[in-house]
Amino acid sequence: MAEIKLSEMRDLTRIERIGAHSHIRGLGLDSALEPRSSSEGMVGQTAARKAAGVIVKMVQEGKIAGRAVLLAGQPGTGKTAIAMGMAKSIGQKPFRNARRQRIVLLEMSKTEALMQAFRKAIGVRIKEETEVIEGEVVEVQIDRPAVAGAASKTGKLTLKTTEMETVYDLGAKMIEALGKDKVQSGDVIAIDKASGKITKLGRSFSRSRDYDAMGPQTKFVQCPDGELQKRKEVVHCVTLHEIDVINSRLDELTRGEMDSTKDTEELYGYMALGFLALFTGDTGEIRTEVREQIDTKVAEWREEGKAEIVPGVLFIDEVHMLDIECFSFLNRALENDMAPILVVATNRGITTIRGTNYKSPHGIPIDFLDRLLIISTQPYTPDDIRKILDIRCQEEDVEMSEDAKVLLTKIGEDTSLRYAINLITSATLACLKRKGKIVEMEDISRVYGLFYDVKRSTQYLMEYQSQYMFSEVTAGEGDED
Ligand code: ATP
Repeated sequence: MAEIKLSEMRDLTRIERIGAHSHIRGLGLDSALEPRSSSEGMVGQTAARKAAGVIVKMVQEGKIAGRAVLLAGQPGTGKTAIAMGMAKSIGQKPFRNARRQRIVLLEMSKTEALMQAFRKAIGVRIKEETEVIEGEVVEVQIDRPAVAGAASKTGKLTLKTTEMETVYDLGAKMIEALGKDKVQSGDVIAIDKASGKITKLGRSFSRSRDYDAMGPQTKFVQCPDGELQKRKEVVHCVTLHEIDVINSRLDELTRGEMDSTKDTEELYGYMALGFLALFTGDTGEIRTEVREQIDTKVAEWREEGKAEIVPGVLFIDEVHMLDIECFSFLNRALENDMAPILVVATNRGITTIRGTNYKSPHGIPIDFLDRLLIISTQPYTPDDIRKILDIRCQEEDVEMSEDAKVLLTKIGEDTSLRYAINLITSATLACLKRKGKIVEMEDISRVYGLFYDVKRSTQYLMEYQSQYMFSEVTAGEGDED
């Protein structure tokens, strides 16, 4: 009994979910941005893929901010697939897919949700340099206390030596002066310039408090060239949103004023809350002042060369679902020099702009439309449909006979690519039911009869509409939202 359970469990853990776009691994372009006929799960749609490749290149070079791209085309022509391909080619974290449902249904305001989505798509690469002393040190005095052992910034010291020195060497000297059991790796130790006395500041070192206490004795001496070298560079990559959330919790504690006398543990507690909020997504609204402070700080870091902005990609599918307020927000947000690349997609033609009585192409206001680089996707040829179905069969680990594939391609042409893709899974189940190993034409026909495509379903509704509730649509009426 136990054995059976164990093997069942093993089978279960092996199941991997296959998503609609799990076969897409990139845009399938060569190094000259030319689309390969079938590569990285991508087939056909060459012009759109090439254009998307150009955008990816722009993102990778990281020089352009605030560009927006519109993927426009009929349903099922691969808009989402191309956006996925772009994300995979960029291969970097700040790619966000802001689903319209989240923006419409979230408890926070629409613009706050959009703002958070924007800032999630902006990466900040923070460089932290560890300074070490190397070479012939005669007299070096730096404005911060020395950190022995594994810690980072070097400090004020007046040791005279001709030896090669590193922070670790200095640590050793301090150990020599204070005694081995008194100094631990990570301890902060100050060396008084006047007396040469070494003082251990301990681990709970507060930069401002201890440094100020030593202030009068501190003489700032520029280290001669070559003696103070930047040796190690540690790079952290976070998103602006992550910085926002952590600081927003700290802001709650300090009510807007960062106060260094706050108990360190309390501060850490609030930071931990911030991390928790990030994991659960329960971040709430973030005050504009907090964001402004962060933007100023990040701008300073950028000027000092300590931080770099990595603009990511924010993808908003079904963009016609946004209303006029959201579009105005996007217009403004794209002006910011820290804006990500925005990719939006829609399958709508000329339709009403939400929140207004006006119609416009794709339901997008003209001023926003004017900002967009438009990539249009085209309907697939039978050959493309066949190739995509082949790829999907491979992805879903389905063996299908040639006849069945021909039939499925025909169905794809007559109905839609998505419907044909969906039939693969159900036909496989039909095949398993008759204990077959290869999906045959009969399985395809069976599920084609069982599940209606849009055309047949609509026809059915038209025929029997009198038997349904609230049916007042007459044949030929449009598809308003
Ligand atoms: P909608 O307007 O309805 O949102 P869409 O244009 O976003 O449709 P997708 O969802 O991208 O269409 O495409 C439908 C299915 O076909 C998906 O499973 C997608 O991965 C696949 N597909 C579309 N285009 C390609 C392609 N060029 N190569 C490989 N697979 C594709």
